Amino acid sequence: MDSTGRWLERGRPGYEEARRATVWNARVPDRYPDLVVQAASEADVQAAVRHAAAHGMRIGVCSGGHSWAANHVRDGGLLLDVSRLDPLEVDRVSMTATVGPGRKGDEMCASLAAEDLFFPAGHCRGVAVGGYLLQGGYGWNSRALGPACESVLGIDVVTADGAIVHADPENSPELYWAARGAGPGFFGVVTRFHVRVYEQPAVCGFSLYAYPIELLEDVYRWAHAIGPDVDRRVEVPILMSPSFTALDIHRPAIVIASPVFADSEKEARAALAPLETCPVRDRALLAVPYAPARLSDWYDAVMHAYPDQHRYATDNMWTSAPVEDLLPGLKRIADTLPPAPSHALWLNWGPSPLRQDMAYSLEDSTYIALYGVWSDAADDGRYADWAPSHMAAMASHASGIQLADENLGQRPARFATDTAMHRLDQARAVYDPDNRFHSWMGRA
Ligand SMILES: Cc1cc2nc3c(=O)[nH]c(=O)nc-3n(C[C@H](O)[C@H](O)[C@H](O)COP(=O)(O)OP(=O)(O)OC[C@H]3O[C@@H](n4cnc5c(N)ncnc54)[C@H](O)[C@@H]3O)c2cc1C
Repeated sequence: MDSTGRWLERGRPGYEEARRATVWNARVPDRYPDLVVQAASEADVQAAVRHAAAHGMRIGVCSGGHSWAANHVRDGGLLLDVSRLDPLEVDRVSMTATVGPGRKGDEMCASLAAEDLFFPAGHCRGVAVGGYLLQGGYGWNSRALGPACESVLGIDVVTADGAIVHADPENSPELYWAARGAGPGFFGVVTRFHVRVYEQPAVCGFSLYAYPIELLEDVYRWAHAIGPDVDRRVEVPILMSPSFTALDIHRPAIVIASPVFADSEKEARAALAPLETCPVRDRALLAVPYAPARLSDWYDAVMHAYPDQHRYATDNMWTSAPVEDLLPGLKRIADTLPPAPSHALWLNWGPSPLRQDMAYSLEDSTYIALYGVWSDAADDGRYADWAPSHMAAMASHASGIQLADENLGQRPARFATDTAMHRLDQARAVYDPDNRFHSWMGRA
């Protein structure tokens, strides 16, 4: 295999550009690895891992750089950027694909759509499959298809000794088990995912409602009540923000924009029907019970909430608490929302079906995540604590967090069952006995 990887030592030309290129969040941390390696091949990955072992360096790995907290950028050691490992090969007959960790989910979806195929990739452009699949993967139609890691059939991994290992249910099963949920605590470098792909849903559509933020209690009580019964092919993300300029809403509001994936328009409309039942429906600022959409339109719409070149601080919680227990916290969040596009997300997710046996092991009925978004570094002090402080205040109602929007360096929290955590530690002891790969932030 050709090797054209670049090795950039701290202090040398190109180093800082390479370090920054691994972080999508404009809040690039003041943490400096000694060496950045931009791998162009699996052989480059092996060489970098062996170099790290020979020199006693720890390793952080990056695919698409969409870790909000830039988990892979640590002080000292080696930062291994595998974003260039991004081939995608699709086998329509077996309904499988192999994909490099650097491939962006939206690009993967576009390639698959050309063959009438589909994958539950993440909701934003630019999120690479590397970090996304390792941490779980809440993507398009994931309520029906499961977190995307359930569609991972096998992985190719460069392990701490520099060997290439293929892991699946029959080969190195513990490594395969760990790779589906360990997220930023995974102890190897995934160079290829083998995944299941799906038929493109015949109909892709959505409903859209906006309510004045003053109706918060009515909206969340209703959302909580209908949650368990909404067809799993419907996603119910509820966004609270000071404004939604793309929708021409210039006041604090709650927007419920629900994608649906179905076999026919009739089915899609029926699946979305519960969204029409909000008791304050007649006071909606905007109401679209059904409209067809393409996935590319959805990506465009979602990106209004996550603009490039901005500074972000996130945090989150899973919960099945009664809505009355959550309302005080939601009101405090509403009262303190930083300027748009900062927002709070409420997602009706559960009840959880029986999942495969994998490290991903913690989810609950409702997901709440906060996204502080701002552009001026001078405002870091004003907004960086907004998300974690509210989630800390509501922690007594949380069953845990998910790794997608984690902020473990600032607020350590539970993201897997105790049994799964113990098994992860045991697997690390076998596959990475010298702790070559960084663990989750907030943990040694
Ligand atoms: C704008 C935005 C939108 C998002 N939307 C969603 C969403 O809809 N659903 C969802 O589930 N999540 C979402 N996320 C969270 C995102 O999926 C995670 O941050 C994910 O880890 C990003 O993957 P990445 O490869 O781009 O990031 P990276 O920052 O490159 O990777 C994250 C971490 O994973 C590990 N890692 C990455 N690649 C490898 C590898 N090849 N081998 C071993 N370890 C590796 C490293 O520890 C790394 O720090 C979003 C994030 C952002 C910024």
